[in-house]
Amino acid sequence: MASITIQQVDKVYPNDFQAIHNLNLEVEDGEFLVLVGPSGCGKSTALRMVAGLEEITSGVLRIGDRVVNNVEPKNRDIAMVFQNYALYPHMTARENIGFALKLAKVPRKEVTKRVIEAAQMLELSEQLDKKPSQLSGGQRQRVAMGRAIVRQPAAFLMDEPLSNLDAKLRVQMRADISRLQRQLGVTTIYVTHDQVEAMTMGDRVAVLKDGVLQQIDTPQVLYDRPNNVFVAAFIGSPSMNLYEASLEDHRLRLGSHELTLPTSTFEQRPALQRYRGQNVIVGVRPEDLEDASLGPTPPSGTTMSCTVELTESLGNEIVIHFLLDATRADPGNPDPSDDTRHNNAVARLDPRSRCSAGEIIDITVKVGNLHFFDPDGHTSIWD
Ligand code: ATP
Repeated sequence: MASITIQQVDKVYPNDFQAIHNLNLEVEDGEFLVLVGPSGCGKSTALRMVAGLEEITSGVLRIGDRVVNNVEPKNRDIAMVFQNYALYPHMTARENIGFALKLAKVPRKEVTKRVIEAAQMLELSEQLDKKPSQLSGGQRQRVAMGRAIVRQPAAFLMDEPLSNLDAKLRVQMRADISRLQRQLGVTTIYVTHDQVEAMTMGDRVAVLKDGVLQQIDTPQVLYDRPNNVFVAAFIGSPSMNLYEASLEDHRLRLGSHELTLPTSTFEQRPALQRYRGQNVIVGVRPEDLEDASLGPTPPSGTTMSCTVELTESLGNEIVIHFLLDATRADPGNPDPSDDTRHNNAVARLDPRSRCSAGEIIDITVKVGNLHFFDPDGHTSIWD
């Protein structure tokens, strides 16, 4: 086992496209680090550089104490698991799992022992004599995992290993991989575009955008204290609602709506004082909104009157899409002529809510949980 250190790493492809900008990451020994971000943000490039499948343009990469910038992939003591499991179709599961060991001339007895152990861990013992075509998607993925495990590497590198599985199986395998990683304690870097996967699996999560690291922290900190609008919108499902607003003393104006901020908001975020009389971007998580008719009369300055557009009943909650008379501050949708900027906020309501599409309802906002961002730099307003 080993730590992985990525220091001031850049990647410029031969066509001059810079896919990674000054990346700094330290993955601790035994840690499960998830690299997450939208398509094209450079996750696979970063992982492939660690694996040695892609050259580093500048910077230093260490696995343990060893600088591996110029070390061949096979000599880096890592094992990769890809989304297309890359199993040999003519070999049985047993032969696939043991193949790398056989190539490395590990004694036959030892190969057999390690394959059996891995198969037990992965609940594959009954499947070892089957060929990949006779296995289910989940079982194939387990064989690919088994192949990585038997090598007893210093680190696992996983690139979207679950993306070929159906939703239910993904949830199952997600838990299995987490459990296995904990059991083995092998340092792991796991790439995904799925923020739920990132949040549920990672000890820490690194969020990338356009080749630039936006934030690295535990899932809970990313959720509670996102560094900027991008992380705020990317982490959490459904996404945080982000609106342009202006701050007048303790009052926050969003279009025609007005909310009163508690004193605690300014105590927690001293820097917000400087925005009095100015514009901010305000973020509201869908779970911090509730149908006002369900509880006692809410205090003044905590509700917004909105038109319900669509309701989605999930049993344990009702997700509603509603029109908010305010301007969205969506960094992914910067076109001011786009009508969708003016509507379509999302709330997760108690299933007792009886609201229906077309109805105008009062929505209570947990004003103490609002997030605030600078309208120019899109960075979080805290200290
Ligand atoms: P996805 O989730 O879609 O796999 P990703 O975050 O893993 O995306 P990368 O595959 O790392 O993204 O690609 C990052 C950027 O680098 C993309 O804009 C991609 O087009 C570009 N890129 C990747 N490989 C090359 C290459 N060989 N030459 C030039 N540009 C490349």
